[in-house]
This record gives sequence, C-alpha cells and structure tokens, in this order.
Amino acid sequence: MAVTIERARGCLLGQAAGDALGAPIEGMARDRTLRHNGGVRDYADARTQWTGQLGRAHLPGLYTDDTQQALLIADVLVERRGFDADLARERYLELARPAPGLPRGAHRATGGTFRAALQRMAAGYPSMLTGVPSAGNGAAMRVAPIGLWYAADPDGLRRAAIEASLQTHADARGVSAAVAVAFLASYLATHTVAGDDAERAALEAAALFTRDAEVELAAQRPDLRPARFSGVLSLVAGLWGAARWDVLRAIVCEANRHGPARPITSPADPFAAASVATAIYLALAAPDFEQAVTQAVNLGGDADTVGAISGALAGARWGAGAIPQRWLDGLENRQGIISRADALAGGAKGGAGWEELPAMARRVALSQARVREGW
Ligand SMILES: [Mg+2]
Repeated sequence: MAVTIERARGCLLGQAAGDALGAPIEGMARDRTLRHNGGVRDYADARTQWTGQLGRAHLPGLYTDDTQQALLIADVLVERRGFDADLARERYLELARPAPGLPRGAHRATGGTFRAALQRMAAGYPSMLTGVPSAGNGAAMRVAPIGLWYAADPDGLRRAAIEASLQTHADARGVSAAVAVAFLASYLATHTVAGDDAERAALEAAALFTRDAEVELAAQRPDLRPARFSGVLSLVAGLWGAARWDVLRAIVCEANRHGPARPITSPADPFAAASVATAIYLALAAPDFEQAVTQAVNLGGDADTVGAISGALAGARWGAGAIPQRWLDGLENRQGIISRADALAGGAKGGAGWEELPAMARRVALSQARVREGW
C-alpha cells in the first residue's frame, strides 16, 4: 500500500509539532514542568519556562535540529530517489557553512555527537565512518522520512535507515532504535492500527524487523557492540494493556540493562533504549494524536525528541487531519514541511513554491536568531 499525502503530511507535520511543543522545556525535569504550567498543551514561550536564560530563547512553534535533519533526509530521498549518504554529507556540510546573520551556520541546537560527526565529514572520512560512538536518540529522531519513502521496499528501508544512522552514530544501539522508528513510520502510514490487538501486532512486527537489522548490522560492523533494541520492543508488546506508568517504569529498568553510560532514571532520557522506546510506546498506546504528543513532551527530559518521534509515528498513524488545528496554525515553516511530505508521497520534488533546502534552513535559522537577539 502506498503512502498517501494525508499520512505523509501527518508524519512530518506531526514530527515538527511534537518537536516544537517539547523544545521550550527540553531538559526540564518532569515535576518542574508540571508544577510550572500544569503541563505543556501549546507552543510555549521559552522565556516563561526558563526565566532569564538567554540560551533558551526559542521561537514558539519552531521545531529543532530533530526535524531540521529529518527534512534534510527527506530532501536527499526525493532528489536521489533513495537515500544517498554522500549527498546527505554534502547537505550537512552546506548547512554548517557560515551565512549572513548565521556565523555558525544554519544547524540549530545540535548535540555533541552530531558536531563531532560533522567534523569527520568535513575531514573527508568515508561516509559510513563519519559516525562517533553514541547510543543516544540522535539517529532515530530524523529517519521517519525513510519509512515513508521505502514503504514498499523493506530491504531498502533497512539499508537506508542503517546508513543514515551510521553517518553520525557508530553504535548499534542508536542505529537499531532508528531502524525501529523508520519501520514503524512505514507500517503506521500504510495500515489501519486500531485496538489492542492491532497495536500489539504493530509492535511485534517492529521487533521482528529490528531483530533482522541487528543481525545484519552485527555482520556488517563486527567492531560495534551488538544491540538488542528489538528486545525492548518485545518487552513492551508483552506488557500491552498494562497501566502507562508501569510500562514506562519497565522501559527504564530494561534500558539500564543496555549499558548506559550513567544510570537511567527517566523514560525520556536521551539514551535510545529509553526515549525511543518511550516515544514508540506512546504513539501506539495513546488514544489519539494530541495525547500521544502531550504525554510524550510532558515527561520532560529530552522533550523535543520524544515529542518529535511520538509525533511522527502518531501522525503517520492518524494522518494530518488528526493534528489539532491550533498546532498546525502556530507551526513555523508549515509550507516547507508540507512540500517535503508531498514530495515523499508523490515521489518527486514539489512544483511551484518549492524552496531549496539550504535557503529554507537559513530562513528558518534566521527567524530563530532574531528571537535570540531580541530577548
Ligand atoms: Mg532537538
């Protein structure tokens, strides 16, 4: 079954909305965000969340690096009619170049893993060796477009998700979590998933697919410590129907068995076995799009990324029509996101009004830079 424009838009707009809802409270503890405002329900002004912290200035309704990188991957897919790591590298480096008003380039709020990988890209490492060890969620946060593009080609999906992940993350734990997200974006965009049985079946299908990818990855990269993100998915499937906090607690316990650098205490910890599993669980267990995303971001912690992944999957599942209108209205660069979704579903670059990626990324980064200056 092909991915419709409605589901493709749901996926990318859902990702951007979840990302933008979580962005102002990224890194905030759950109890603080609940105490502060009773939980996020709308695009918040970061100034009301983090009093006087200049670095936290954020344009309300604007997505972060998670969606920025997802749009870059979408662009590569439609340009080359498939994932091409060399073109992705070119685009990552192009956005890193200083531009008028953007002395540090157009990449926004990137993490240390990504910046280290960028340096290796610039230094000319082979495309599959630019990644650095990290079991974080930074690969999983950007691969949903791969699921949309390769919905009818599971082998292509697995290969593309692995390559797009290894480009920054040389750790099978981060890569296998990304494979699970790409698979579920494809599955949810092409199935009707309603009711406990269908939800559990989706999770079991994702666990199977991810296990195959883990075997393939272990053969391809014997230097990497083997991953078993598939085991987290099976665990959650086995708990289907249990109370939400019991499942989230089980995810935290299981994540601690996957060798995190420090003990995991939050289901929204950036460690992939925690936050990616949490985002997947909420997208499948919540009754609608709005709850999938608000439950995700209000866990605090890595709120933008848990919101982005949960939003991408819930959007693929329920379509753009399920996203609350107030979130669509307030979303920055909505037309740019829609143009990429339509190109992924239609198989070609958009027509009139199509804005090339570097120009789009710079325009968006400049609007954010102006907010920071004005604060
Ligand atoms: Mg982010």
